[in-house]
Amino acid sequence: MSKLEADACIFCQILAGTLPASIVYRDEHVLAFMDVSPVIDGHVLVIPTYHTPDLSGLDDESGGHIFATGRRIAAALRQSGLPCEGINFFLADGAPAGQTVFHTHLHVIPRRRGDGLGFRHGEGPSRGRPSRVELDELARRLAARV
Ligand code: AMP
Ligand code: ZN
Repeated sequence: MSKLEADACIFCQILAGTLPASIVYRDEHVLAFMDVSPVIDGHVLVIPTYHTPDLSGLDDESGGHIFATGRRIAAALRQSGLPCEGINFFLADGAPAGQTVFHTHLHVIPRRRGDGLGFRHGEGPSRGRPSRVELDELARRLAARV
């Protein structure tokens, strides 16, 4: 990561305090703050305290802290008085996955019945149930690389 890349990163600017944020939690590993354009009230982002555009640059320890913080925020949301009957974690890795800010981050999104949010099947490669042979073949291909 170049210094220029981090300087241009809005989440690094939030970490540095040069951009405003409504902070929910901070420690040496993570920062959690309110999404400025929430998909629903209570939408929180959790980021590592160092710049990495994507998951490939995230170490396992930081990943663990991000997930653990997400869990704590999920519990806080459930107790917050906001409508919250469920929680989604969402992480977009790469532009085709919907990533728009290239400092990796976990979305923590409170959900309630009938809120209208959700993944939708597009016109792309989604299809019905593959055969067990196809699933086994995909599992083998991935297992060789995990
Ligand atoms: P993604 O599309 O997964 O990369 O998510 C980026 C998220 O960052 C979006 O939900 C934006 O609303 C949010 N966002 C962008 N700029 C800011 C900001 N300055 N403060 C808080 N959230 C932001
Ligand atoms: Zn950054």
